[in-house]
Amino acid sequence: MREYIALVDEEWLCRCDNTPSRDGFVPVRGGREVDTASRRWRGSYCCLRCGFLISWPSRDIIGYLDFADLRLRDHGPELTPGGDADERT
Ligand SMILES: [Zn+2]
Repeated sequence: MREYIALVDEEWLCRCDNTPSRDGFVPVRGGREVDTASRRWRGSYCCLRCGFLISWPSRDIIGYLDFADLRLRDHGPELTPGGDADERT
């Protein structure tokens, strides 16, 4: 049975109450943060509060990542999963 996180006001709402504007989500592959533009990315985000792995854009929960195994890049987390990509800069 598949489980999903909620979408509230165009923002992801994780089971742990995390949203992109709170602790956020990062795109990951294999326990490593990746760029969403990278060919290595397969559409998975990790919740930075509880470690759920969430598939974008379907929002189904596909796993769990222990933070001890998560390697973030040097910069701060990217907080942009949601309804549609915001390219308007
Ligand atoms: Zn969470």
